[in-house]
Amino acid sequence: MPDSPCSFCGQERYDKRTIEYIYSYQGKHLLVPNTPVEVCLNCGMKYYDAAVLEEIERRFFAIENKTEEPDRYVQVPEKAYQ
Ligand SMILES: [Zn+2]
Repeated sequence: MPDSPCSFCGQERYDKRTIEYIYSYQGKHLLVPNTPVEVCLNCGMKYYDAAVLEEIERRFFAIENKTEEPDRYVQVPEKAYQ
């Protein structure tokens, strides 16, 4: 989590939230509910913990390789996010 000034606007106040994070890879998407994030109160830039992103990526490929069952696994067209 950031303990230094926002790299975009330079202020140091963040709001902790949980959001639905969408991991995208080669046209496939994994929806991850309750992903912790810190949001810059000034400019809205989102900062994710590196460990959180690593876990999301690990889980995506585990599901891809059929070593884990998806609980909420969605595939949506790229167009939905354009
Ligand atoms: Zn900022």
